Amino acid sequence: MAEGIREAWEQGLTAADMEKINRYTRRAFGPEEVFAFSMVLCDNRVDRDGERFPVESLQKLRELFLGKTCIFGHQQVGANQAARIFDTALEEEPGQEAEGGETLTRLIARAYLPRTKGTEEMIALIDSGMLKEVSVSCAVARRVCSACGQEQCGHVPGEGLNGQAVHRLLLEPTDAYECSFVAVPAQKGAGVVKRYARQGEGLKKAWQALEQEAQWGRKYRESLTEKVLKYSALVQPELPREVMKSAVRGLSMEELDMMGRTYEKLAQKALPLRPQLAPERARVREDENKAFQI
Ligand SMILES: [Zn+2]
Repeated sequence: MAEGIREAWEQGLTAADMEKINRYTRRAFGPEEVFAFSMVLCDNRVDRDGERFPVESLQKLRELFLGKTCIFGHQQVGANQAARIFDTALEEEPGQEAEGGETLTRLIARAYLPRTKGTEEMIALIDSGMLKEVSVSCAVARRVCSACGQEQCGHVPGEGLNGQAVHRLLLEPTDAYECSFVAVPAQKGAGVVKRYARQGEGLKKAWQALEQEAQWGRKYRESLTEKVLKYSALVQPELPREVMKSAVRGLSMEELDMMGRTYEKLAQKALPLRPQLAPERARVREDENKAFQI
């Protein structure tokens, strides 16, 4: 039963819990020497980036977050203090659905802090519920479209398709990094920072460069699509814009570009008078201006 995990955790530290904690300590601690608390790391719902971890990915993250530290933000007391995650679990919320037909599932973690003079304040803050939210970061190997399963496609996150909003699935987590406390409870899903590089700073930079390139690529794609739609409206006005828009979605950039040029040519043939429209309009404006120059 996944439901009662956190309730069980609240009951205090068992011998089995202490065994888990003592895997990370230099000497064996007794239950009175440590403070343990639980937190939600992430869940399988679509976050505000239009992405989500399917349960399969949460399972993997569950292993990756074991032993990772939770640090406290700069503005908070005892910024050099860190708690360590010693247990993780998946908590299901029966009756509540996440996207993709999955039951709402949270990745929860349990962390400990040694009870010392230095951690008193921190423990009090956590105990008071002031530090409830954590921001986590991890790396995933693949990010695919929920509609077609491709890494690169024309589906736009947030757009409806067969009654489901298109989103991106974060697959094959490769690493989990330390998590940090957020003093002010943030919006839903705000706590998850995702990286898409496998590991290391070099790859991270490479990813950022790729992201930037992809952004320009998306912009270029939009402009190409707009061109096709504009000329298509002139050449075949009876065809609804939306139909055309979904028809070009799966095309490659090259195909889109070709299509844009073809439609442009067709439009020029079909409407030979069109180039004259501009000067005509200019003349009208001139006349209007004259009318105002009394
Ligand atoms: Zn897609």
